[in-house]
Amino acid sequence: MVKQVRPRNESGKELTLTFHEKRRGKPPRHVADLGREERRALLQEMGFPAFRADQISRHYFAHRTVDPADMTDLPEDGREQLVGALVPTLMEKVSEQFADGGRTLKVLWKLYDGVVVESVLMAYPDRATLCLSSQAGCGMACPFCATGQAGLTRNLSAAEIIEQLRLNMKLAESGALGESTRITNVVFMGMGEPLANYRAVQQSLHRMIKPVPEGFGMSARNITVSTVGLVPAIEKLAAENLPVTLAVSLHAPDDGLRDDLIPINSRYKVGELLDAARLYYVKTGRRVSIEYALIRDMNDHKWRAELLAAELNSRGKGWAHVNPIPLNPTPGSIWTASTNSATRSFVDTLVERGISTTVRDTRGSDIDGACGQLAAEVVDRDNVARRAKKAQQAVEARLAQHREEPKDFADQLATMRS
Ligand code: SF4
Repeated sequence: MVKQVRPRNESGKELTLTFHEKRRGKPPRHVADLGREERRALLQEMGFPAFRADQISRHYFAHRTVDPADMTDLPEDGREQLVGALVPTLMEKVSEQFADGGRTLKVLWKLYDGVVVESVLMAYPDRATLCLSSQAGCGMACPFCATGQAGLTRNLSAAEIIEQLRLNMKLAESGALGESTRITNVVFMGMGEPLANYRAVQQSLHRMIKPVPEGFGMSARNITVSTVGLVPAIEKLAAENLPVTLAVSLHAPDDGLRDDLIPINSRYKVGELLDAARLYYVKTGRRVSIEYALIRDMNDHKWRAELLAAELNSRGKGWAHVNPIPLNPTPGSIWTASTNSATRSFVDTLVERGISTTVRDTRGSDIDGACGQLAAEVVDRDNVARRAKKAQQAVEARLAQHREEPKDFADQLATMRS
């Protein structure tokens, strides 16, 4: 495993972020890892006509099937070999857990090498949304997040990301959430930092968006890629001409607190991150979502809402939408969600300053199903709880200084407004 050591933070403590996976070896090659021409070339190399690749792709992306028995347009002779070559089994369901009266379903998936990841399917009156994982574990070490406490095991391949979607599509369409529903929205808010697994995520976006037989033909506008702030990757994504929504998990508008809450902030500061987010908006025309987990007496102060509004407004109007979400505490967490009155005050302060704001619901919170909170059952709960507590206590030691409004706060705001 290769770790990149980041600079010491303000308290002098040296922390590491993991960008490289522990495990090597690759998942089996799969139709969802390949573009249309690559699939056709592969089958030709194997001595089959190229058009068989399109037939199998149609079965996979349009009919969600990998069962040779469904593929009656393929010759019986050689069918198993064809299917095995393009759509090998990548994962199996380990367990499922329902919440919210059967409208939310979390599934644990075991991958080819025994690694386990999670997805959460949520039904709404007019749509279903899938929250999927892009990595097994995560190397970003955010102290409020169960996944972050477990560390990074490995990146998922594009096909492993897409298989989560196909298998959940089958579940939704077969009525797992009460009635047959189509997944219209996908959010990369499960395990992992999507932009730390850039290539696979980018490939999976193409598979989601391109029409059959290249992909599922979903609307790019209904796909959200979240990040804690890998600035160069945001800039790269902005240049891809894929108008997906970008969600920035900000959680603090000031570097002092954010360095502690989101360790990557030591490398890419709030100002730089918001500049990149704004650039994303300019290049794609897609309004950026700012995710803000409200943690009681940690980041929910009125002055922080004022600062957040000033940071956003100083970069223009209408380019960002803030989604505060009460923290869903992980096992062992010494932090908890903001009170209702602190939440209201935070939201009102933003709205009064012209920031469009919607408090996100906490769907699936009774199954740890909120963003970045998915790993608790994948890893040893006690271990996660111990690590979470330790990581949070380190932040707590500096909390008093983080709570205080900066002495020059009025000047700071005035500078931003001018
Ligand atoms: S909050 Fe997101 S980026 Fe941070 S550790 Fe958790 S999964 Fe990783």
